[in-house]
Amino acid sequence: MESQKSSPMPKKTKTTRKKEIVDPCPICSKELHLNHEFTQRIGLLDEMDEVTGWLCPHCRSEFNIDNQLTKFMGEDGMRGEA
Ligand SMILES: [Zn+2]
Repeated sequence: MESQKSSPMPKKTKTTRKKEIVDPCPICSKELHLNHEFTQRIGLLDEMDEVTGWLCPHCRSEFNIDNQLTKFMGEDGMRGEA
């Protein structure tokens, strides 16, 4: 007679209500994480192909490489209403 092996089952994490946001956009709070290697950030390059910052694909806010906001949701500067 075989003895049944009880192998440990992977337990589900207790919080399964929503996908946890790993890397939220500071403006729209949407997920910027893609996988362990990449984010969903769109790289911004200058004419020399140097990375000058990144763009959030969700709200189109732009940031420089120091993660400082340079364009709020696609708007230039603080213009108020267009
Ligand atoms: Zn965003």
